[in-house]
Amino acid sequence: MALRIANLSKTYPNGVRALQDLSLNIGNNMFGLLGPNGAGKSTLMRTIATLQEPDSGEIWLDDLNVLKNKDAVRQILGYLPQEFGVYPKISALDLLHHLAVMKGIHSPSQRKETVEALLQQTNLWDVRKKALSSYSGGMKQRFGIAQALLANPKLIIVDEPTAGLDPTERNRFLNLLSSIGQDTVVILSTHIVDDVKELCPRMAIIGNGKLLLEGTPSESLEVLRGRIWTKIVTSQAELSEIEKTFDLVSTQLTAGRHQVRVYSEQPLDQGFTPADIGLEDVYFTSIKHQQKAA
Ligand code: ADP
Repeated sequence: MALRIANLSKTYPNGVRALQDLSLNIGNNMFGLLGPNGAGKSTLMRTIATLQEPDSGEIWLDDLNVLKNKDAVRQILGYLPQEFGVYPKISALDLLHHLAVMKGIHSPSQRKETVEALLQQTNLWDVRKKALSSYSGGMKQRFGIAQALLANPKLIIVDEPTAGLDPTERNRFLNLLSSIGQDTVVILSTHIVDDVKELCPRMAIIGNGKLLLEGTPSESLEVLRGRIWTKIVTSQAELSEIEKTFDLVSTQLTAGRHQVRVYSEQPLDQGFTPADIGLEDVYFTSIKHQQKAA
């Protein structure tokens, strides 16, 4: 399976250009879509999930024209939106059964088997009879995955799933995502660099509705090799001076002191040393350079 997004554009009625001629190819396995808030991730996810129309462009899932065959796409789509909406007082078991009927699993024995397997897989078996409204954030997200996996989807879209989860719940959720089958396109949209670093063989960064970078995390790191320099800054005045003089990528406060990271293609002295490059550097550099170019 492969998803091909070609020249997708969307301008909202208020004039916001959420997608600007965006093209992207996504193959099997987990694909990380990184971007800051407002980058256009949800607009792209909702468009792929056939929940909204672009102004122009095409989306193909192998030879299926996604925008022209919405019903066929919905049959093979598993979608976990950013907000799963209202959590009812009914149990996970009952709601999954109900959703399974809506997904077309009519045989009671097949439905029972599917629902029970999903509750086991998402580690919700012990709480399957409890009301969804009483679930923690992590349990709700795992239920979201269970419902997204009904009817063996070939395309799974997960929009900002780990925001608001504590570290244990986040780990459990990411492990669950990574266990999803190989013959599936899984798109993980997030502003959390670590989610992508840990899980995704391929990734893209988008900003202001445009594609800024695409590749494997290690290729993305390679682009910055020898170009990120770091220094501990001791005063606010020095920090302001660095902001004015250098191409500042990020500032991190460690033990009350600022550690700055700057981009430079030329070696820097003045106390700077070469930094170990991380995916955060790729992310911040892409976003900052795009903001400057805009
Ligand atoms: P992300 O998911 O990366 O945070 P979104 O796709 O939600 O980005 O938003 C992209 C831009 O489009 C933002 O500037 C947002 O305010 C705007 N936007 C999103 N939805 C709408 C809408 N329904 N009407 C108008 N503007 C919108």
